[in-house]
Amino acid sequence: MDLHLSASPKSVTIIGAGVAGMSAACALAEAGYRVQLVERRGYLGGRASSYLHPGVHEVIDNCQHVLFGCCTNLIGFYRRIGVADRIHWTSDMTMIEPGGRRSPLGPSGLPAPLHGLPRLLTAPAFTLADKISLGRAFSALMRPVPADSSESLGSWLKRHKQSEGALNRFWRLVIASALNAEIDSIAMPYAAKVIRELFMNSAEAGSMGMSKVPLSNLYDSVPSFLAARAGSVHLNSSVEAADWDEDRSQWNVQTRTGTLASDFLVLALPFEATQKLISGLPKVAGAEPLVRQIEQHEHWPICSVHLWFDRDITELEHAVLLDREIHWMYNQSRLQTGRGGHYIELVVSATRAFAALPREAAIAQALGELAEFFPLVKEAKLEKVALIKEVRATFGVPPGIDAARPSAVSPWANCFLAGDWTATGWPSTMESGARSGHLAAEALSQAAGARRSFLVPDLKPQGIMRFLR
Ligand SMILES: Cc1cc2nc3c(=O)[nH]c(=O)nc-3n(C[C@H](O)[C@H](O)[C@H](O)COP(=O)(O)OP(=O)(O)OC[C@H]3O[C@@H](n4cnc5c(N)ncnc54)[C@H](O)[C@@H]3O)c2cc1C
Repeated sequence: MDLHLSASPKSVTIIGAGVAGMSAACALAEAGYRVQLVERRGYLGGRASSYLHPGVHEVIDNCQHVLFGCCTNLIGFYRRIGVADRIHWTSDMTMIEPGGRRSPLGPSGLPAPLHGLPRLLTAPAFTLADKISLGRAFSALMRPVPADSSESLGSWLKRHKQSEGALNRFWRLVIASALNAEIDSIAMPYAAKVIRELFMNSAEAGSMGMSKVPLSNLYDSVPSFLAARAGSVHLNSSVEAADWDEDRSQWNVQTRTGTLASDFLVLALPFEATQKLISGLPKVAGAEPLVRQIEQHEHWPICSVHLWFDRDITELEHAVLLDREIHWMYNQSRLQTGRGGHYIELVVSATRAFAALPREAAIAQALGELAEFFPLVKEAKLEKVALIKEVRATFGVPPGIDAARPSAVSPWANCFLAGDWTATGWPSTMESGARSGHLAAEALSQAAGARRSFLVPDLKPQGIMRFLR
C-alpha cells in the first residue's frame, strides 16, 4: 500500500527528538505517514546536540561525537536529510605519550584484517610484549564471540594474558572509552563487536567521522523535511502523559502546549524518561516486565573541557592521549568549517572520579595534562573555558544487559519503543539511536499493514573477515 496515495495518511506522534526520534520520524514521513515530532527542549538532537553556551558565548556541542564507517543507519539518516557531506572522514589516529612522542595508527594497503597491522607494529607507544599480547587477542577475535557470552571484557583480557601496556594504552583507553565503561563492566560480545568493526572488518568500517558543523546544525533540515511531507516538529513541548482512546482508536498525548492525537505512538526517549512516561499508561500485560528491564540500566558519565587559546597549540586535528585522565583531543578550529580561533576540546570518558571533581580542579587538571602532550600550551594564553559534565551520557553494557533491552514492540497497542538503549545489538551510540528509530519504523509499518524495511544493512566485511562471521 502506498500511504501517499491513501485518502487519509496514518498519523504518528514521536516523543523525543534525539537521533532515535528524528530517524524514525524522517523514515516514516518519507514512507507517507503524517508525523508529529515532539521534543521537550528548544532544539533537536538530544544527547547529540549543540547549543549557545552562556558562559563562553559560543555554540558548542554537548560533547564531540564520533561516528565510524560501520554506522550505516546513522549515515543513512544523514543521507535521508541531505547532510552526509557535512561529515569529515579520516582513517588516521595519532596516539601521543606524555612528553610528546607520537604513534600514528591507521590502515595500510594490506587486506582485512591485516590493514592496521603495519602501523601498529611500528608504533613506539607499544613495547614488543604489548604487541605480542595484542596480536594474541586479535587472533582470538578472528572467531566471533557468541552473543550470549556472559564474560566481561576484563575477564576475557585476563584469560588472554594482556600486558600492562596493552591493557592501559589500548583496551582501557580505546575500547573501554569507546564503550564508556570500565573493562569489568563491559560484556565481551560488545567489546568484540567494537574491535571487529573498527579494527578488523575493513578499513572503511573503521574510518572515523566527525561533524564539520555544530551537531544541532546537522538537523537543520529536519523540520522542513517533515513539513514537506505534512509533518511537524513541536519544540519546548515536554510530554507529560499519554492515553489510548479506545473509541477512536487513537493516542492522545498531553504536552505543555496542548494535546496531540494520532493513530500511532513512538516513545523515543532515554530509559529513565520512558520509565516515567509508561508509569502513567494503562496497566496491560507486559508493562511490569518492561519496567523491570528498565530498572536494570545504569548511566555512565562523559566530561568535556572546551578551551579557547590565543594561538595554535597543535597542528593535529585530533589525538588519543595516553596514560592520563583526559583521553581525546579534538582541534575544533580545524575540524569545524568556519569556526576560526584556537578552540580545543578534551574528552574524558568512563571516569566517575573526574566527573566528581569541582569545576576549577577539573579544568586545572585538564590543562596541566594537555601541556604534557603539547608544550605550546605553556606559552599560550587561555582566553575562555567551558566544562560540560554529562552524568547521564550513556547506558552501560555489562554482561547480561541484552535481557534488559526491549524490542521496538511495546506492550501497548499501536505504541512502539525506540532509543539507543532498546534492543539494537549496539552499545550506547548515535548508531544505536538511528537503528532503534529504523526498527521502530519497521515494527510500526508492519502493525499498519504496510510493512516496510528501513534498516540499513551492515557493511560487508572484507578479506578473510568475510568468512569469519
Ligand atoms: C557526552 C556524550 C558523548 C557522547 N559521545 C558519543 C560519540 O562519540 N559517538 C556516539 O555515537 N555516541 C556518543 N554518545 C551517545 C549518543 O549521544 C547517544 O547514544 C544518542 O544520541 C542517543 O540518542 P537517542 O535519540 O536514543 O536519545 P536522546 O538523544 O537522549 O533523545 C531523547 C530525547 O527525548 C527528549 N525528551 C525526554 N523527555 C521528554 C519528554 N517528557 N517529552 C518530550 N521529549 C522528551 C530529550 O530532550 C531528548 O531530546 C555520547 C553521549 C554523550 C552525552
